[in-house]
Amino acid sequence: MSDVLLNQATPLPWQQLIQEKLVRLKTDTGLAHSLLMGGPAGIGKAHLAKSLAFALLCRQEGAVACGQCSSCRLVMAGSHSDLRWIQPEDSLQIKIDQIRQLVGWANQTARQGGIKVAVIEPAERMNLNAANALLKILEEPAADTFFILVSAIPAGLLATIRSRCQQVSVLRPGRDQALAWLKQVLPVSGVTELQTALHLAAGSPLSAFELLRDGRSQGQTELLALMTQLVNNKINPVLAAKQALDKKHPQDIYDLLYWLLSECLRRYIYELSGGGLSPVLEETIVVFSAIFSAEQLLLIIEQVVLARRLLIGTGNPNQEQLLESLLIQIFEASQRPINKALVE
Ligand SMILES: [Zn+2]
Repeated sequence: MSDVLLNQATPLPWQQLIQEKLVRLKTDTGLAHSLLMGGPAGIGKAHLAKSLAFALLCRQEGAVACGQCSSCRLVMAGSHSDLRWIQPEDSLQIKIDQIRQLVGWANQTARQGGIKVAVIEPAERMNLNAANALLKILEEPAADTFFILVSAIPAGLLATIRSRCQQVSVLRPGRDQALAWLKQVLPVSGVTELQTALHLAAGSPLSAFELLRDGRSQGQTELLALMTQLVNNKINPVLAAKQALDKKHPQDIYDLLYWLLSECLRRYIYELSGGGLSPVLEETIVVFSAIFSAEQLLLIIEQVVLARRLLIGTGNPNQEQLLESLLIQIFEASQRPINKALVE
């Protein structure tokens, strides 16, 4: 997330109340020493952890860090000795050495004379050894140390860790609030573009922001065009798979397909008319809805989920073959006579 667009010391608009509540709890000595911030991906949990850590370390009273005191200046400079941020290093995991160092730091007295805060993000990436090492310190935390664990999948953490943490549920903002924020941080983008990105990001504003910032929405437009060609028998599935993988990360392809098919199905079931999304997205939905029955959509969604699961699993499948076989199924289904048994 860009520092220019977001003041890290200030909570996002939909997180102000929860931060106020947590800072008040700390003032009233009711804040647990271990917090587990859970909630959907892409809504700014790490941002909240950061702005909360800044506020807890700030020498002034208030729900938000003052940005002026000696502590805030050290935090902004990235050199506050009583703040630690633990993330996966060179691999996908948070390893035991990182947690051992953290435990050593936690056992020292705060150097700035106040409290210490450690953020572990994403916490479910701790491997088992790391998690067990952390558990020991969570069982007997030092009085001046706070641990903030951030996770989009808290169920991926050891139950023993979860039970030692105060649970903080971070919620996705409402659509209007999310759109207002996106307009503020991306003033040059049109409303339709923002709405589309927010839709594709399942309502998570930071995911939508990244989608637009990284120009990934362009890649998505190209991918949607490719899928339309596929179901219209204008490109063969093998070539379509190759071209799709040239444009997008495999996981993004499955996510987009899942979203597209689910949106077609949602419109079938609730008899919704379209509108509000980008023209290319609306066109693709119209094409897919005309070709596939609800029953076919359900079956294909199941295949997408299965393929995605294989992709992120430990089996290390051949990405091209995996996508080819999914696109072959979609192509073959598109060539069959429509059967609208589920909706008629
Ligand atoms: Zn301050």
